[in-house]
Amino acid sequence: MTSADLVLLNGNIITMNPKIPSAQAIAVKGNRISCVGNNQEVSQYINEKTQVVYLDGKTVIPGFIDTHTHVVDYGRMLTWLDLQEVSSIREAQIQLSERIKCAMDGNEWVLGRALDPDGLLEKRLPTCQELDTVAPDNPVVIYCQLGQVCVVNSKALKAARIGQQNNVGIEKDTTGNPTGVLRNQATDLVWGVIPESTQQELHNATELALEKIVQAGITSVHWIVLSEEELSIIQNLVETDGLPLRVYLIVPTNLLDLALQNLKPLENDYFKLGGAIIFIDGYLASRTAALFEPYSDAPTEQGKLFCRQNEGVVLANKIQDAGLQLIIHAVGDKAIQEALNIIQHVKRNSVAPCPRIEQAAILNHQLLCSIKELGVSVSIQPCVVASEFSVWSAEDHLGKKRARWLFPVKELLSKGVLVSAGSDCPMEPLNPLRGIEAAVKREGIQKVSVFEALQMYTVFAAQAVSEFADKGSIEPNKFADLVVLSKDPVSVEAEAGVSVSVCFTVFGGTVYCSKN
Ligand SMILES: [Zn+2]
Repeated sequence: MTSADLVLLNGNIITMNPKIPSAQAIAVKGNRISCVGNNQEVSQYINEKTQVVYLDGKTVIPGFIDTHTHVVDYGRMLTWLDLQEVSSIREAQIQLSERIKCAMDGNEWVLGRALDPDGLLEKRLPTCQELDTVAPDNPVVIYCQLGQVCVVNSKALKAARIGQQNNVGIEKDTTGNPTGVLRNQATDLVWGVIPESTQQELHNATELALEKIVQAGITSVHWIVLSEEELSIIQNLVETDGLPLRVYLIVPTNLLDLALQNLKPLENDYFKLGGAIIFIDGYLASRTAALFEPYSDAPTEQGKLFCRQNEGVVLANKIQDAGLQLIIHAVGDKAIQEALNIIQHVKRNSVAPCPRIEQAAILNHQLLCSIKELGVSVSIQPCVVASEFSVWSAEDHLGKKRARWLFPVKELLSKGVLVSAGSDCPMEPLNPLRGIEAAVKREGIQKVSVFEALQMYTVFAAQAVSEFADKGSIEPNKFADLVVLSKDPVSVEAEAGVSVSVCFTVFGGTVYCSKN
């Protein structure tokens, strides 16, 4: 019997393997699991060199797989001033003035995030003038916790040339001057003038993001890149062995050739060029998701398709020929129908994982059956689902009947469709426990159990990209990618994520302590 490098004892291990659903202990040799069983069985692998961790009844599950993240953007956001915890405008001003003291000079843009007007004593956002009193020189942009809303100071308004013009989304006071609050498309006016980060700044921000991701218990990410700059950051990380987790890279079709040339040859246990994504419509919040029938609250709008079927099939064949997963971003029912038409006409490559639809928000019975028949997986982001109902009223925008078919997760699961889950971080919170909470607490018939939500973040996420031989459950010979939780999320079903926290993460057999 070979000894183990790491042994975890006295745990409540939820293996996600239906043959042996629970266990007490795990032995790890190198970066893989060597034994799963009771304390006695696993203790036999201990010798004087083995690192032994006593779990005291804590719960172990397979490392979370987040199937939708934008890592570089998340890193950029982490370098911003975090205003999540402030409870008044005064407090926000104090934090802002402290941050401005660290700025290099008056030209440096100061960015803040996660301000929640409902959490403030004043129950409103600060005004432009209130920001100016502590930030007279530096342009300041503070993004809100929810929705596409920000508040900016006078310097930022000036830089974005926002004055008395009447663009949609620019909030005005009674005299017609901007208050500093910008909504939806109007937020792009300032976003467009914020200076780009240097490559070094982005690299540092990405490393910070990866560290936070591992601390959150995530050991694999599906990393969606949108720029050439991001590709070179990843290339650098792979070449210098700088990845602290496993990456399944997803590229847009315009970067496919470049990714195949520069990144495909670098594939290893940590990195895989996984798929390429075709965007065929937009988003519900901006009413750019393509629908068969108009939006209920905007009878002249029904979104439109970005890409016609024949064009889509050419791109899809190119992706399949390269052995990559065909991923189609399709939100509205019309877009999903188009995505399924493309999938039906494509030449399948047996090497590539099954095609997948990203979001698949508005379904109906017939679309759901086609998804099942064509063997398509669906990737959803539970916190995005929650936002559709909390930030804007899905029922108003879509009508009762379509809102009932918005992200029908339970129905997809009961049909046997592989549904995987992700965060869409930084647009939504990274924490998978928050995602589980969102999936479980959802109102109505589409809410799922904690166990089903866990499956979406582990087993199903691995199966959907043909990686189940290596991850997604706790079994011998799989990667020793694990997360240790303070409580058993399944037994505290009603509270779901709320009271459960990550104690530490094990990645490839190495223990990473969490700061939380
Ligand atoms: Zn996204």
